[in-house]
Amino acid sequence: MELIKLGKKTYYIKNNTNIGVYKLNDENVILIDTGNDKDAGKKILKIISEQNWHVKMIINTHSHADHIGGNNVIQTRTNCDIYSNEIETSLINNTILESAGLYGASPLSSLKNKFLYAKESKAKVIDNNINNLEIIDLKGHSYDMIGVKTDDDVIFLGDALASENTINKYHIFYLYDVKEYLNTLEKLKTLKAKKYVLSHNEVTNNLNDLIKANDDKINEIISNIYKILDTSKTFEEILKEIFDMYNLTMNVSQYYLVGASIKAYLSYLCNDDKITYEFKENKMYYKIKGDEKSA
Ligand SMILES: [Zn+2]
Repeated sequence: MELIKLGKKTYYIKNNTNIGVYKLNDENVILIDTGNDKDAGKKILKIISEQNWHVKMIINTHSHADHIGGNNVIQTRTNCDIYSNEIETSLINNTILESAGLYGASPLSSLKNKFLYAKESKAKVIDNNINNLEIIDLKGHSYDMIGVKTDDDVIFLGDALASENTINKYHIFYLYDVKEYLNTLEKLKTLKAKKYVLSHNEVTNNLNDLIKANDDKINEIISNIYKILDTSKTFEEILKEIFDMYNLTMNVSQYYLVGASIKAYLSYLCNDDKITYEFKENKMYYKIKGDEKSA
């Protein structure tokens, strides 16, 4: 982990999940996200205290475990406030909801791992503007994700865009809501800043190529779902064909994470009247609606 300056008051700590650091004054800083786990939290605290700074507040872009994993240890040691958007706050305060949401019930214990089940902390709902920071809605990847723009022209974007590496290696990046994700891509085209910090990518001064790569991959997945639905298929069959097509390896986490993303595509296409579903012999089948099949 390394502290890198981005603006007059803004830094980031380079890490698996990049951490934002915004200086409120000579002593106090706001952190944007806290990394994977307790270890990440401890390393962040060490870097901050080496500068003789103090953590006053944490803003979580969203509630995924790799963004809130250090919250608990940092809040316990500094008594800082934690803020996020409404639904994300509920999940930060009740971290079982991440794996429960993926599973749809009390989850398998194999899903209760540190990648999906962070330690709890106490978060509150954020205002639109907080200490010269502008909060930007970036829904789609998660229920209610936010970005943070500083007054020295840096925007922290959380997981609003999948990296080139993720797109090329994994193909199906996690998203909760396809329509909101696409809306966020449009919004990102209009956001102007000197530097953009994504949680899992190099810092950049131009997002255009990455926005296009995300948009292209989503359209590719949609067209592959249409191909798979050449005849009506169950969810299990669709998921298997997606894994085969992209040469992905199934395990319990991937089944639920990729499965949830594919369900997001299916609900998007159903709600947009492109596909529909029916029940036959107590099985649920998805199928292309009417004339869409010949399109
Ligand atoms: Zn995430």
